[in-house]
Amino acid sequence: MTPPRRFFVETWGCQMNELDSQRMAGQLMQQGILPTRDPGEADIILLNSCSVREKAEQKFYSRLGEYRLLKKDRRDLLIGLCGCVAQQEGERALDRVPDLDFVLGPARVGELRQVVARRRAGERVVATGFPVERHYELDAISRHGEYKGMVTVIEGCNKNCTFCIVPQTRGPEQSRSMADILREVRHLLDYGFREIELLGQTVNHWREPDGGMDFADLLDRVAGLPGVERLRFVTSYPRDFTPRMVEQIGLHANICPYLHLPVQSGSNAVLRRMGRGYTREEYVALAARLRAARPDLALSTDIIVGFPGETAEDFECTLELVREVRFSAVYAFKYSPRPGTAALRLADAVDDASASARLQRLFALQEGIQRRINESLVGQEFDVIVTGWGKQPGTQTGRTPCHRVIHFDAASEPAPLGSMARLKVEKALPHSLLGRRLEVPVAAN
Ligand code: SAM
Repeated sequence: MTPPRRFFVETWGCQMNELDSQRMAGQLMQQGILPTRDPGEADIILLNSCSVREKAEQKFYSRLGEYRLLKKDRRDLLIGLCGCVAQQEGERALDRVPDLDFVLGPARVGELRQVVARRRAGERVVATGFPVERHYELDAISRHGEYKGMVTVIEGCNKNCTFCIVPQTRGPEQSRSMADILREVRHLLDYGFREIELLGQTVNHWREPDGGMDFADLLDRVAGLPGVERLRFVTSYPRDFTPRMVEQIGLHANICPYLHLPVQSGSNAVLRRMGRGYTREEYVALAARLRAARPDLALSTDIIVGFPGETAEDFECTLELVREVRFSAVYAFKYSPRPGTAALRLADAVDDASASARLQRLFALQEGIQRRINESLVGQEFDVIVTGWGKQPGTQTGRTPCHRVIHFDAASEPAPLGSMARLKVEKALPHSLLGRRLEVPVAAN
């Protein structure tokens, strides 16, 4: 008997890339090709890349260099470049890497099977661009090992922030219909998923393609489906938040009290050069409105330091905003110039040493804030979905509704993965919590 064929996927970047990897895995598994954790035994290697910062792109190319070596003894091994670098590089990637077999952009993920077949027939394929009709097969998604079901509601991005490559790599915005989205959510609930996460680069800019309904209606409909115990969505764009959306977050207890709301900078001058379309004051007011609607809401954010023209005073404004809003987590990055973006034309680059020093100051400030927020949770009880095993033997981990990682002792009686456990927070660590499991039945929302 011939051994089963195997594939290996490595994923960089955002949740949308994670879901794209699940979609690619599902298509191959439907053909009897099985996943492996060992690239050395794979017949197909898929590198699902991210190009949002230069570092991510470099990491990807060095990994590609390692996998190419496997081809020396395995002439039938296929290596595919997928994701945002694929869209960005297209044909150039095939010229640059002679051992590369195909290039598959994010909007063409649903065509993987056909692309592999064409390659097996001899063609080095470049499948990029943004077709109006995209293949999206509900039944061809491998959600193995996931406790939450991710559902893309809007593809692409129209914002054109001056630093960002996403509009080029993921194309213009395209919303899926409400009916399509609800069908996928119901499908996930039938499979036993309790947590649903709606995805989009600007998820709250979702609109019913035929007009009428917006993201507030979508939240209302999805949260109202029986069986949705937890609803999350990512990434929200500050300017697109309407009062009706804020209201929905207050109305539905199963919408998690956690929101990722990238601010990027606390300086109005920098926000203007970034083309974000809101001011620091508008952002702070929005955060206050959200917290008024949902007092337990945890907010996290993204910040770019060292954007061209960012002065020491601009950076102080960012620190001031961080102190004022008190985020539960800050994902901060040094500005990375990206090809084809408008910020390349901006003068007054910030030197690397200054940008690094600013990043360190920001991390230090946030660490203190985060520690104090985490300490304020000690003694509170949370219903947590058990998501995995901790690094310490005999411990398990989960996420609170407000998205904190929490570890707990499971040595005597482990909880089934995916089950709900009531935990009491006993200790705060800088980036996570330690809890104790309580023997109480956990009520569904
Ligand atoms: N669509 C989201 C938004 O901007 O509101 C997020 C897009 S991006 C995938 C995730 C984060 O990467 C951004 O929020 C930003 O902080 C960071 N990022 C994007 N482009 C960057 C660049 N050129 N340099 C550094 N960080 C960048």
